[in-house]
Amino acid sequence: MPDSTLITHIGELVTNDGDAGSFAAMADAALVIAEGRVAWTGPASQAPAADDAVDAGGRAVLPGFVDSHAHLVFAGERSAEFAARMAGRPYQAGGILTTVAATRAAADDALRANLARLAAEMARQGTTTLECKSGYGLTVADEARGLALAAEVTPEVTYLGAHVVPPEFTGDPAGYVDLVCGPMLAACAPHARWIDVFCETGAFGADAAAAILAAGRSAGLGARIHANQLGPGPGVRVAAEAGAASADHCTYLTDADVEALVSAQVVATLLPGAEFGTRHPYPDARRLLDAGATVALATDCNPGSSYTSSMPFCIALAVRDMGMTTQEAVWSATAGGARALRRSDVGHLGVGARADLILLDAPSHTYLAYRPGVPLIAAVWQAGRLVAGSVTL
Ligand SMILES: [Zn+2]
Repeated sequence: MPDSTLITHIGELVTNDGDAGSFAAMADAALVIAEGRVAWTGPASQAPAADDAVDAGGRAVLPGFVDSHAHLVFAGERSAEFAARMAGRPYQAGGILTTVAATRAAADDALRANLARLAAEMARQGTTTLECKSGYGLTVADEARGLALAAEVTPEVTYLGAHVVPPEFTGDPAGYVDLVCGPMLAACAPHARWIDVFCETGAFGADAAAAILAAGRSAGLGARIHANQLGPGPGVRVAAEAGAASADHCTYLTDADVEALVSAQVVATLLPGAEFGTRHPYPDARRLLDAGATVALATDCNPGSSYTSSMPFCIALAVRDMGMTTQEAVWSATAGGARALRRSDVGHLGVGARADLILLDAPSHTYLAYRPGVPLIAAVWQAGRLVAGSVTL
């Protein structure tokens, strides 16, 4: 790798480096990468020399996507369930147990290979930071194993022992919460940065969710939550009270929920792949943005409700069906995701940021929604290293 690389003739350089926490871009731009970081951005006509040069040919350059919500440690697939759902059967949280059984039965190497396949698939689609949850093991050993495997591909590892109550505890859900907060947490915390809970009818209620997040915080883990996905509920309130970094899904919100997200500065992470995959109504991003909430977009990649790894797909859905402008959707998929993970080094291309960037085969970010389903990611750099695609015109 050369010491410094100049990318020039960038038609649109999305930097997100304004101080208002909103989309920022410049035309006819250049960018210099040095030592894995953004060293310079500005007009192409004023670009400094570098050891190596890449001609973007008028195409757009964006920050790499930050996918702040994914479930990648699993075995098996559930395409038959998806097909049945599309034929009219409703989605129920219990489908998770199908994947739990397959995951428990899988060898480490099988889980590792599936995880590597999905992480590579994400990289090819422009994702340079990903979060990965456990939650398909639901025993002390299986959860700890899942988190250790996730930590091989990302530092943003989330302990989700509280995904659903496993069949062994059907008659004793309180006993399972004790396990999640006790021996399972002790085994999992060393591998994780975050703790998460699925707060939903059929999964965990408000008191259990609050207890689980509090236990995680005592073990040094930051809080995030699956909230208000399938109907109105207490999840967002629990998130605000726990000081969670993010409340994820946020599909069914009261006015009080929206106010709680804003006042407690909890990022609302919207996961439109889940609404697509369950044929539910999409969350109303416009309402959240107009109220002053910080919105992130993520894939929720998992084999049940949302088996997409594509941030461009989520951007297109958000623009088409959730009231977001193209600029807002791209910000939410980059800087918004970074905020959901409390990261300041990714999601933008200000000087000093990690050099995570995407070269689009298009002149502007708008094409991500304007040309949905088209593979527009030409090249991807992570920390200054080309990890996918090529820079050839
Ligand atoms: Zn999820």
